[in-house]
Amino acid sequence: MSLRVWEAPEGRGLRRTGAAGSPTSRGLLPAIAHPMSLVTSSAILLRSHPYSDSSRILRFFTRERGIVSLVGKGVRTRTSKGEAALETFAEGVLTFSHRSDRDLHTLRDFERTSGSLALGTELPRFLGASLLAELLLAHALEEGDPPLYDWIRVVLERLGAASTAEVPGWILAGAWRALGHLGFSPDLARCIGCGRDLDWGAVDGTNATVFYRLDAVAGGIRCPDCSSGSGLPKIGPRAHLDLLRLLGGDVPAPLRGLRGHLRFLEAFCTHHLAPRRPFRSFGMLLPLLGAVGWSEDTE
Ligand SMILES: [Zn+2]
Repeated sequence: MSLRVWEAPEGRGLRRTGAAGSPTSRGLLPAIAHPMSLVTSSAILLRSHPYSDSSRILRFFTRERGIVSLVGKGVRTRTSKGEAALETFAEGVLTFSHRSDRDLHTLRDFERTSGSLALGTELPRFLGASLLAELLLAHALEEGDPPLYDWIRVVLERLGAASTAEVPGWILAGAWRALGHLGFSPDLARCIGCGRDLDWGAVDGTNATVFYRLDAVAGGIRCPDCSSGSGLPKIGPRAHLDLLRLLGGDVPAPLRGLRGHLRFLEAFCTHHLAPRRPFRSFGMLLPLLGAVGWSEDTE
C-alpha cells in the first residue's frame, strides 16, 4: 500500500495556502469546509517550470491520483550532493497537501527512488518520454490508474535502456497502449466508413499489393469505396500488423514506416485528445528520424 491519507491538524496547512486574514486562515470556518489531506503516492515528474523567483510549478503523474499540479515553494532542483532531485521523468515517493477546492496543491516532499533514466543523453529518448508526458497531460487523468502508471514506468525504463533502434518502437508502443487503456483506440478490424471486413491478403502481411487508407479523425481504416479521392495516407498489410502489435504494447522489429506511424499517432492524438496547444514532441521528433539512423521509409 503506497497511499497514505490522513487529515492534517486543523488549520495547519490552511495557514500556508489560505489568503492572509481570510476567515479560513483565522480558523473561523471548520476545516471540513475545504478539507485538506496529506497524500503520499508513487509519482513521476512530467513537467516543471519556474513560478516565481523561488517556486516551481510541478506536474506529476501519480499512481493514486492521476495527474496533479503542485506548487513547490523554495524547492531546490538539486540535492546537497549535487544530484538532480526534481529531474524531469524522475520517479519517487511524493507527498503533497491536497485541497479539495483547488487545482493547484502544495508539494511537501519528493523522495526520488529511480536512478537517472539516461534519457537526457540522447535527444530522441528524451523526446519520446516528452511525447508520453504530453499525451498524459492532455488527457489530464483525474483519478489514480495503477495499471497505466505501471505501464508508463516500464516504457520510461525501456526508453532509457533500449538500443537506439528500439527506441521509436517503444515510443509508439508506449503511446498506443496508453491511449488504448484510456479508451482511445483506432478500429483496425473493419472499414470505419461502411463496416465491411478488410481483406489484407496473406496473414503474414507479405501481400504488398493490398492497401487501405488511414483516417485518424474517424479513428480507423477506410476501404477504397469509402476513401476515393480522399488523399488519406495509405496503410499496407505490414504496417497494419505492426500497428496491431503496437496497440498491444509490443515492439515490432524491424519497425518500418516510422514517419507514417508517428504522423498517424500525432493526427489521432491531436483530434481525439484535443490538446490546448499542438503537441511539441512530434514536431521535434519527426525531423530527427533520418539523423539518428531510424528507418523512416513509408509503405
Ligand atoms: Zn468502406
